Amino acid sequence: MTITENRALVDALNEMGPEELLQWAYEQHGDRAGIVTSFQDTGCVMIDMAHQVAPDLRVLTVDTLRLHTETYGAIEAIEQRYGIAVERFTPDPKAVSHMVQQHGEYLFFDSKAKQEFCCHVRKVEPNQRALATLDVWITGLRQDQSDFRKATPKASYVQQEGRPLIKLAPLADWSEEDVWRYIRENNVPYNPLYDQGYTSIGCVICTTPTLPGEDKRAGRWRWFNALEKDAKECGIHIHGSGI
Ligand code: SF4
Repeated sequence: MTITENRALVDALNEMGPEELLQWAYEQHGDRAGIVTSFQDTGCVMIDMAHQVAPDLRVLTVDTLRLHTETYGAIEAIEQRYGIAVERFTPDPKAVSHMVQQHGEYLFFDSKAKQEFCCHVRKVEPNQRALATLDVWITGLRQDQSDFRKATPKASYVQQEGRPLIKLAPLADWSEEDVWRYIRENNVPYNPLYDQGYTSIGCVICTTPTLPGEDKRAGRWRWFNALEKDAKECGIHIHGSGI
């Protein structure tokens, strides 16, 4: 099924609250809608909300096979708490093997281009496979996460593999304080790395804790901190992102 772009719909979606958006996504698009999350704070909040307003909404994740033990623990805790089975999309084993043979396991230290290649093999390609199953892509992007994400709308159309997709960011205008207030008040399971100084969580080695006052994504690929703003994006939200 292919959806067609409807500007009035996107305008209406941009006026909705987070629970309303999650409910709309499931009621209008069923199994063609899903939360795609790396189990950071906003993803956990959206899963809790969906449990109340759209409990059968799909939850998908890209497992790069290089995640922290704490992240795998958080996924299991969420599955148990909400009685859901998270759909895991992993990298193509042949592509990983070829990449490692050619460039080594730690190629991301060598150059921005090799980091992007690793992110493409381990994140972007599995994410594209996940998106191929969706018409509504629900993400945890927030405007306060980085300068690059300041213009994130709650709803937009993006092009994915030549077809339009509705991309929702239900918590786009929430602050970090809003997110953590919700987590505390609702006792939502979260990644314990947040208690160790992490403010953005990705793969082991490529993600480090941040210092007070630093950009929330400053801990990503620290060795590229002198580069431009989008050096802190893995590619999932750049190509065809609409932001
Ligand atoms: S974050 Fe690092 S290990 Fe993970 S996919 Fe990107 S470059 Fe590879």
